[in-house]
Amino acid sequence: MRVVVTGGGGFLGSHLCEALLSRGDRVVCLDDFSTSEPGNTAHLREHPGFTFVYADVATGIDVPGRIDAVAHLASPASPPDYHRRPLETLAVGSRGTENALRLAARHGARFLLASTSEVYGDPVIHPQRENYWGNVNPVGPRSVYDEAKRFAEALSMAYRRSLSTDVGIVRIFNTYGPRMRPHDGRVVSTFIRQALDGEPLTIYGDGSQTRSFCYVDDMVRGLLAMIDSDVPGPLNLGNPSERTVRELADLVCETTRSTSGVEFRPLPVDDPTRRRPVITQAQHQLGWYPQVPMEDGLRETVGWFTSRQRRLSRDRAD
Ligand code: NAD
Ligand code: UDP
Repeated sequence: MRVVVTGGGGFLGSHLCEALLSRGDRVVCLDDFSTSEPGNTAHLREHPGFTFVYADVATGIDVPGRIDAVAHLASPASPPDYHRRPLETLAVGSRGTENALRLAARHGARFLLASTSEVYGDPVIHPQRENYWGNVNPVGPRSVYDEAKRFAEALSMAYRRSLSTDVGIVRIFNTYGPRMRPHDGRVVSTFIRQALDGEPLTIYGDGSQTRSFCYVDDMVRGLLAMIDSDVPGPLNLGNPSERTVRELADLVCETTRSTSGVEFRPLPVDDPTRRRPVITQAQHQLGWYPQVPMEDGLRETVGWFTSRQRRLSRDRAD
């Protein structure tokens, strides 16, 4: 297959590009590095099956040649990133999604939309099944992301219904792993960086809010299975093992053997109180379920953060 990956330079996108290449697919990666580092895909640049195109996909997408699938991942994903780039987040979720859908429709290609558990907002129903419509504040600070993704889902379904585009939607729940930016502001990367730097871990609110964290390798297996299927979705992809933010802080301290301690900060506006996916649909329709326990995934992630720190201080010394 020849697969276009928008946002392929990012955390999830770079792992997806790598997985596609390693099973023999060719990859065209589109990115503008607005929320990522070129280093994520530097090791792929010499691969004969890999093409990188620097592009803002909200402006337009031009990829010559045959295309079998389009995986649309381009979008800021961390709350500080989308708060910093509200208009760009709405643009890539709307115009960017339309450009990516048009490309897929023109080529009769499979289209994968990387949607999010944020479409459920601060959920009144717990845990979340795909048939729950969510509880989103349409005018709050998170709405630029949540509503852009909800619009992207609606647009993708409209392409499916009116143009028979082979659309598949996945709703991704919090995913972590190597290549997260240490300063991206997401909770796992922030806690690991703080623990390794000997700084107190910043817990927002009282830490009783929950999330369900999925390791990146599991998520990429799910994305590949969805690309290979003709399942329309939306399907939840995530690890149903739910933890409080306080529990996560303790686990990170344990894994890093840190004695940093914690510090409490105000809870951001509209911060969801709980999140846990029901994944029976993904299990039945894709045969997918996560396999990596959080303790193992965190160990891998901490190992990556540590070696990154060592590499950076070696470079600085040289
Ligand atoms: P990320 O910020 O690491 O990656 C997003 C990539 O998209 C970056 O490389 C960024 O530069 C690129 N990008 C943003 N706007 C662009 C534009 N207009 N044109 C071209 N490239 C652009 O985030 P991620 O965690 O890898 O998330 C990838 C996708 O998965 C996003 O769509 C996100 O909404 C979705 N998602 C991720 C998670 C998660 O926990 N990681 C959870 C739910 C949904
Ligand atoms: N969070 C926290 N400290 C941080 C960063 C985040 O306590 O330094 C909390 C945040 O308020 C939220 C949870 O951790 O309740 C997950 O935040 P993240 O930004 O990773 O993901 P999202 O809110 O998008 O699920």
